[in-house]
Amino acid sequence: EAKQQGRNRWVCFRQPMLERSKQLLFIDTELKQAIVRQELSLVYQPIYHSGTPTFTKMEALLRWHSRSLGVVGPDRFIPVAEESGYIVQLGHWVLEQTCQQLALWQQSSQDLLVMSVNVSALQLNQPGFADVIKQLLQQYQLQPAQLELEITERVLLDDSAEVSAVLQMLTALGVQISLDDFGTGYSSLSYLSRFPLQTLKIDRSFVQAMSDNDRSRDLVRAIVAMGQSLQLQLVAEGVETQEQAGALTLLGCQFLQGYYLARPQSADQISQQLRQLS
Ligand code: C2E
Ligand code: MG
Ligand code: MG
Ligand code: MG
Repeated sequence: EAKQQGRNRWVCFRQPMLERSKQLLFIDTELKQAIVRQELSLVYQPIYHSGTPTFTKMEALLRWHSRSLGVVGPDRFIPVAEESGYIVQLGHWVLEQTCQQLALWQQSSQDLLVMSVNVSALQLNQPGFADVIKQLLQQYQLQPAQLELEITERVLLDDSAEVSAVLQMLTALGVQISLDDFGTGYSSLSYLSRFPLQTLKIDRSFVQAMSDNDRSRDLVRAIVAMGQSLQLQLVAEGVETQEQAGALTLLGCQFLQGYYLARPQSADQISQQLRQLS
């Protein structure tokens, strides 16, 4: 009996780990079918100029409605795709879709629309990434300034010559580079001057802490001041209340993004809003 129990215990001990890796493998396998099965879609979240009810910029966010797993959030499947390397194909699909969509919207808009697209480290580090971007811009007849690529601090952490080179090439093309989730990574502030960046996105954890205490508000004020002196554009993400929007506008943050202003929406919903704005 003791032997049996011992054996069971061994199984129990190992199982959670096994289950987890099996689950990740399953997600990965399913994800690789997702494009052909048409389970992926994009939603777009408007990014507003502070103090105005209009937007010309939006962030594309990937959605996966899996036939076997249900709705899976990007926070769950993006890391898996990064691990397996599938993010390269997935990321290309996203870029292709967003450029196509942007070209459509631009046809009927007076303003120059800008699309912000999240890009993973592995994707950016693919040889020829800048050429891929150049080709997409040509194919969809977009101005380079209409495309903004959001990278995270993790990308800059390597501080490699390759990362520096690809960012320089993209900047030379005229594409904008935005630093996402600013303040949450292993911040070495020196990269703000070393890499070509146009925009800082203040992470929503800072925005949300602002309402709770004055220290956090001072911190956001300091980030805005630093961004301004480095001539960077500032976007606050995760703006959920009128109070936050007001405070951020007063502090001089030029762009606001968050549920208070608009949720991520389908292409159809965005089309409708763009029509109302024009
Ligand atoms: P992110 O790039 O920082 O995107 C912002 C996230 O915050 C989105 O979550 C958005 O829906 C959410 N959000 C926006 N406003 C608010 C708000 O007011 N309150 C709160 N609590 N959340 C808000 P989502 O869509 O789940 O995406 C999560 C992350 O997944 C993204 O964070 C990004 O890192 C990644 N991701 C999404 N799409 C892609 C993609 O196409 N490629 C890559 N590489 N990563 C992506
Ligand atoms: Mg982002
Ligand atoms: Mg972000
Ligand atoms: Mg984030």
